Amino acid sequence: MLTIERVAEMQAKAESYRKEGKRIGLVPTMGSLHEGHVSLIQAARARSDVVIVTIFVNPTQFGPGEDYERYPRDAVRDQGVAEQAGADVLFMPQVGEIYPSGFATFVEVEDVSSVLEGRFRPNHFRGVTTIVAKLFAITKPHVAVFGQKDAQQAFLIRKMAEELNFDVSIIVAPIVREADGLALSSRNVYLNANERTRATSLHRSLRYAESLVMSGERSAGKVCAGMSRILSEARPSQIDYIAALSPESFSEIETFEPPSALIAIAVRFGSTRLIDNIVIPISEKREAS
Ligand code: AMP
Repeated sequence: MLTIERVAEMQAKAESYRKEGKRIGLVPTMGSLHEGHVSLIQAARARSDVVIVTIFVNPTQFGPGEDYERYPRDAVRDQGVAEQAGADVLFMPQVGEIYPSGFATFVEVEDVSSVLEGRFRPNHFRGVTTIVAKLFAITKPHVAVFGQKDAQQAFLIRKMAEELNFDVSIIVAPIVREADGLALSSRNVYLNANERTRATSLHRSLRYAESLVMSGERSAGKVCAGMSRILSEARPSQIDYIAALSPESFSEIETFEPPSALIAIAVRFGSTRLIDNIVIPISEKREAS
C-alpha cells in the first residue's frame, strides 16, 4: 500500500491509474478505522481495480466546542487496518495541504443541510460537502463509498454529486454494528462503561420502531413517542431528535407509507453524541377480503 500526503502527488497517481484504464474506488474517512470503515473498503474493492482510502480529520466540519482537537487519531494503526482491508493507496494530507491560507471556496447543499444534524451542528454539512468535493477532484474516483450510518451525509453527497455533475457513482453501504446493536463509531471510545451499556438503547429503540411499523402502525407520532420512552429509560443527557423521514426527500413524515421510511435519531450520553438510523420497508396495505 502506498501512502501519499501531497495533493499534487495524489492527483498524478490517480491520473496514471485512469490512463491505465483502471477503475478507481474512493473511501473517505476521518481515520480511527473500525469494522464499519473496513466494510466500505471491501465494498469499494468489489467495485474497482484500485482503492484509495483517505484519512483526514476535516476541521471545517467541526463546530466551535466540538471534538476536533480530541478526535481519536492513530495513523500507524490505521495504515495496518487499511492495508489489511484491501486499500492500495492511503491519502493522508496535513490540514494546510487541503486548506492553504486564504482558502475561501465552499460547497453547500441548501435546505437539507440545515435540518436534523444540521440544526444541531450548523455548518457541519458545508464542511462535509466541501471536503468530499475536494477529495473527488484530488482522487478522481469512478465510485465512492459512504456509510448508511451517516444517512443525512450520504443523502447530501448523492445530491451534491448529482447536481454538480460529478462523474462518480455513489454507493451507500449498510451500518456495521457491535454484537449488542451499537453502531460502530470512532466516537464510541468516548463512552465510559456505564454509558456504553446505556447506549444500546439507540438500536433497541430503532428495532422497536421497526416492529411497530411492521405490525401495521402507521402513525409516526406514536412510533416516535414509543422510541422516546425507550431512550429516556436509558437516562441520556439529551435526546437531540427522533425523526421519521422520507428517504427520497429527507422531509419529515406524519404517516408511514410505502415503499419505505427512515427513522433517524441523535442522542447524547454525557458529552458524547451518538447518531443511528434504520430504513423500514413498508408494504402496501392489504385490502380486506
Ligand atoms: P468517519 O470516519 O466517521 O467520518 O466515517 C467515514 C465513513 O465511514 C462514512 O461514510 C461513514 O458513514 C462510514 N461509517 C462510519 N461508521 C460506520 C458503520 N458503523 N457502518 C458503516 N459505515 C460506517
